[in-house]
Parts: sequence; C-alpha cells; structure tokens
Amino acid sequence: MNKSYFVLIIFILTFYSCKSDTQKDLQTKNAVPTNIFQLKELNTTQIQSFDKSKTVVLIPGGILEEHGPFLPSFTDGYWNEKLTDTIAKAIAKRKDWNVLIFPTIPLGNSGANDVGMKYSFPGTYTVRFETLRALFMDIATELGEQKFKNLFIIHGHGAPNHQRALDQTADYFNDTYHGKMVNLMGLNPIILNWFDAPKTLQQQKEDGFTIHAGMAETSSMLYLVPHLVDSNYKQATPFTGNTMEELIEIGKSPQWKGYFGSQRIATSQYGQDAWSRNSKMITQYVLDILDNKINLDTVVRFGNYSKQSKIDVMLDSLSLKEEQKRKEKQLSWLKKRGLK
Ligand SMILES: [Zn+2]
Repeated sequence: MNKSYFVLIIFILTFYSCKSDTQKDLQTKNAVPTNIFQLKELNTTQIQSFDKSKTVVLIPGGILEEHGPFLPSFTDGYWNEKLTDTIAKAIAKRKDWNVLIFPTIPLGNSGANDVGMKYSFPGTYTVRFETLRALFMDIATELGEQKFKNLFIIHGHGAPNHQRALDQTADYFNDTYHGKMVNLMGLNPIILNWFDAPKTLQQQKEDGFTIHAGMAETSSMLYLVPHLVDSNYKQATPFTGNTMEELIEIGKSPQWKGYFGSQRIATSQYGQDAWSRNSKMITQYVLDILDNKINLDTVVRFGNYSKQSKIDVMLDSLSLKEEQKRKEKQLSWLKKRGLK
C-alpha cells in the first residue's frame, strides 16, 4: 500500500474511534479517572448523556466558620471536599457508573461561636437555617426535575440545626422524586466518628470534651492542608471543658479564642490515622447504601439524636432566635423600601 494512503486510513480510524459518543469525548478530555465529572465543566449535551440510574451526584458543602487563630475558616469544607473526592473514586470503580461532582457550596448554618452565644465572630459567615434548607431544596428540585436519582450531600459540620436542614432536604427529594438522596454526614454512625482516632489518656485529659477545632480537627488540617495551619498552634492555650455546660461557660468568656480542647497536642500523624480509618469506613458506608445493604430508615440521625440533650435543644433554639432577629431586620428594610 502507498505510504500516504496508509497514514490517511490510520488517521480516519483514530478519528472515528475517538468520536464514538459524548461520554467518550468527555473521558478523553478529562483524563483521569474517566467516569468522574465536575458538573460545572459540562454542557447540556454532556449532562443529558448520563444514564441517571447509574449516576451518583455528590454535593460537597463547607461552612465558613471560625476555628480560632490558627486554623482556616473553611476547615470543615476542606475535609468535606477531600472526602467527596475519595468517595467519587470508590464509586467510579464500579463498571458503567458515573460520578458527577457538584461545585462545593460554601454555606452552612450555626457556627460553633453560637455555643458561646457570640453570634458574630470573625471567620463565621453562615446563612439562616431556613435559608440553608431553601438553598439545598432548590438544588434538589433542579436535579430531581432532570431525573437524577442518586444524590449525596457531603457537608460535615456539627451543628444539629445545620444537619436538620439537610435531612429535611433529602426527605423532600425522596418523597417528591422517589430517588435516593442522602445527607451523609447527618447520620450518627458517620458524624460521631468524623475526625476521631484513639487518644492516649493524657491526650484525652488535655483535650477534654471538644466539639470544635480541638486536637482531632487541628490534626486533620495538619494532615490535609498543612500550609493553612499557623505554626503558632504549637503554643495554643487549651480551652478544655468536660461537659457541654462547661463549654458554654468557656465560650462566653471574653478570653475564648474560638476553639475547644487542645490544639497544641495535634499532629499530622493523628490526622492521617483518623483520616484513613474514617474515610475508609464512610466510603464503604456509601457503597453499602448504593447496594441497598443499609436501611436508612433505621439509622439514627444526628439532628434527631441531639434532641435528647436539653442543653443542645436550648442552644439550637437560641440560635434560631438570633436568626429570627436577623430575618426581621432584613424584612423591615425591604418593607421600608417597598420591596418584597
Ligand atoms: Zn470544624
């Protein structure tokens, strides 16, 4: 065969094998892994081409919340994004399945500064409970109308109101669109483990009962985003309490810096240990949900579980009261301007 004919045939074959369908186009363009897609990068044709029964949409969130002088305000978000990535890769190993990753939503409800009843605190930029719920319900509606069926919200943050807003979103989606939307971090088996790994007695004593930015969370940042941790954490004064009542008193004090427990004993190694055990457990949990091995109706939700604690109920209702004040302030301005 003439050499130039041969080259031409090879070129045509290569061209057609690359152009076989939209999915393949995407895969070629996005390189690795070939069945994980960033939703924001896709066009209408590409989005329409997914088999909805074998597509999982992951919606990561991240609250902007003060974590004291040494940790970034997006601390929870970095962890959620890394977990989203890990879960995406695990699902992507399933033959013929695709993962669509929604852009991270950097909004959440009720910062830990609410524990000290300091409702405004540098680093915390929250939205009200009903705003968060409306926002996620709107997104759930769009995805439901477009026939997506498998959705996971990955929005770790320990405020019960925050998780309730997301639980209600998932319930709304499932009742309305008969799909499977899961507020993953709102499930007790997940959120109660989160950053933790076993601690020595000495570490337990120094860290105490910490619900926010203590040894474990600081360690997780040292492992995940070390460049964002101020090295002065090594000299951080512990704010240690042993009960929620004690944490409230610590939080109310003018000396409180925005974290509970001890940051100075944090290590990247602890963060890595906690990450590998917890991310593995959570990923397996997601795969089990997809395989219908877990009956979600029987899994305790953190938002419900927290109602057993009188002090949590009190804090939650105080936060909602403050939110109501903010809402009224905004509404009265709108009214004054003749706006609706
Ligand atoms: Zn946090």
